[in-house]
Amino acid sequence: MDQQKNGVEDLSICSTCKGKCCKSYPGPATPKDFGAPDAERMYMKLYDALSSGRWTIDWINQEEGRYFIRPATKGFESSIFDHRYAGECTFLTSNGCELPFRKRTESCRMLVPKLGEKCDSQGYTRAYVAKTWQPYVNVLIQAATDVEKIDMQLNF
Ligand code: SF4
Ligand code: SF4
Repeated sequence: MDQQKNGVEDLSICSTCKGKCCKSYPGPATPKDFGAPDAERMYMKLYDALSSGRWTIDWINQEEGRYFIRPATKGFESSIFDHRYAGECTFLTSNGCELPFRKRTESCRMLVPKLGEKCDSQGYTRAYVAKTWQPYVNVLIQAATDVEKIDMQLNF
């Protein structure tokens, strides 16, 4: 098991499993994955990610502004907002994740692979990740709104 890479990776377990986690729901990203605490840098990275169609904004509770960003699910790319609870991550290929380990989301990197028992999320639930976004929710929504505006102009 390699813990030197700002995360936990155990290819011997995951290559046998072939990505059950990635097939059930994409791993949510934290603000650090998008350059926090530098708001300007975050905005640029969020804007690029959402424009690519491969990332989407999901939420725990919209009224309370509890949002987060995660990879899109296959077949639903280019949705700037998406709230489905299941689906295969757009980055999963037949050879595993197409992203290099350091580019995966924090919750993906922190998931501890286990043999014969449930893999350990180390507390990186949707609710926890949405909480980490609370101080940056304005940047997140601003980037989404701006990408949506451009999409609408292009499709008009
Ligand atoms: S982290 Fe767990 S569920 Fe995900 S691929 Fe590895 S062993 Fe499978
Ligand atoms: S980003 Fe990679 S590791 Fe994370 S859910 Fe998607 S395919 Fe799996």
